[in-house]
Amino acid sequence: MALNKILLFSLTFQLVSLLLRVSSESPWITGDVTQTPMKYLELARSPEVFDSMVRIRRKIHENPELGYEEFETSKLIRSELDLIGVKYRYPVAITGVIGYIGSGEPPFVALRADMDALPIQEAVEWEHRSKIPGKMHACGHDGHVAMLLGAAKILQKHRHDLQGTVVLIFQPAEEGLRGAKKMIEEGALKNVEAIFGIHLTNRIPFGKVASRAGPMLAGAGFFEAVITGKGGHAAIPQHTIDPVVAASSIVLSLQHLVSRETDPLDSKVVTVSKVLGGNAFNVIPDSITIGGTLRAFTGFSQLQQRIKEVITKQATVHRCNASVNLTPDGKEPLPPTVNDIDLYKQYKKVVRDLLGQEAVEEAQPLMGSEDFSKFAEVIPGHFSFLGMQDETKGYASSHSPLYRVNEDVLPYGAAIHASMAVQYLKEKASKGSISGFHDEL
Ligand SMILES: [Zn+2]
Ligand SMILES: [Zn+2]
Repeated sequence: MALNKILLFSLTFQLVSLLLRVSSESPWITGDVTQTPMKYLELARSPEVFDSMVRIRRKIHENPELGYEEFETSKLIRSELDLIGVKYRYPVAITGVIGYIGSGEPPFVALRADMDALPIQEAVEWEHRSKIPGKMHACGHDGHVAMLLGAAKILQKHRHDLQGTVVLIFQPAEEGLRGAKKMIEEGALKNVEAIFGIHLTNRIPFGKVASRAGPMLAGAGFFEAVITGKGGHAAIPQHTIDPVVAASSIVLSLQHLVSRETDPLDSKVVTVSKVLGGNAFNVIPDSITIGGTLRAFTGFSQLQQRIKEVITKQATVHRCNASVNLTPDGKEPLPPTVNDIDLYKQYKKVVRDLLGQEAVEEAQPLMGSEDFSKFAEVIPGHFSFLGMQDETKGYASSHSPLYRVNEDVLPYGAAIHASMAVQYLKEKASKGSISGFHDEL
């Protein structure tokens, strides 16, 4: 009898201590997810994760690669994933890499980073400046890769606790070459139910984030038109059909599409940013080429149609012909970036737990666009900005040759990424159902 009591006591003690251990190691399993972000932030700030993120970011910064040429960046990502034992798919969309952490089973949730640089000559003088003339990471994508690899380290350490699978998407060619579309075509979103993306920005203070539910960034498209007349002597215009006057009239008429045909409360942009033609003072050229961009949250294809109409009809008024290309250089339009409301609510909660109530700012919609929108068009997505402007406000905007990344922000990005994925999987598990397990991609 006494022996039975001792055995029973010992078993109970072991069970209690096991439960305590599980709950202290895996707070989200017990439902106390508020501890998870802080725990992840501590890990992201530890020398093991922080130093590696800084090292990776600087290495990528020194060797910037343009869209679909990110071979060394991709190699570095794969070697880092190898180092921590994360399995991946490669190549996807030429240089893209997709890592998988967790059970290997649904639900699948994706975190995305872009890898490409810009054709800009870096003007920042520092130890790790770009070593490639005319190329620079001036949009923070080097930081995005580092943050996602930081998140991978955190998640891999807790892989046995994940209630599903985290998909790490390292995409090529965000800057105008539609890398996201190519990744989707090659199955990047297969079985994935939701996706999260973070973009660094110098427009908001360090450690603050900005996001919103619904449309956040505009849809973007491009146009190019060749206006053809009949060239000749500039002093004998009556024997020519002048495409310069026609093009001038077209440029002005295009401005009326927003000012006269658009609801003033619905933001749209039509900009002619390129006018090419003529190279002599006394010669009327045969043709003029114009080109530009349109941005809109709604009525995108109608605006495209009106641009086409105005160009061709105005050309006719001036006895010219016009051909209009709405996908110049293969630049296909991007849809607006629209944040899913439920993911936005989840994001706000995670960031409040991580950085405090005042860290979350409501973002104003921007007329800029993002390739992330292609992912968020297929499955629910959430895109947000992470601020890194310090009190000097001395940081240049993105796409500037003076652009810099404040590396102290990297742990925030890694912790937000990891926490969002874990929180998503946890909520999915608590609902007890797995939807969207599909095979069409
Ligand atoms: Zn950019
Ligand atoms: Zn960018």
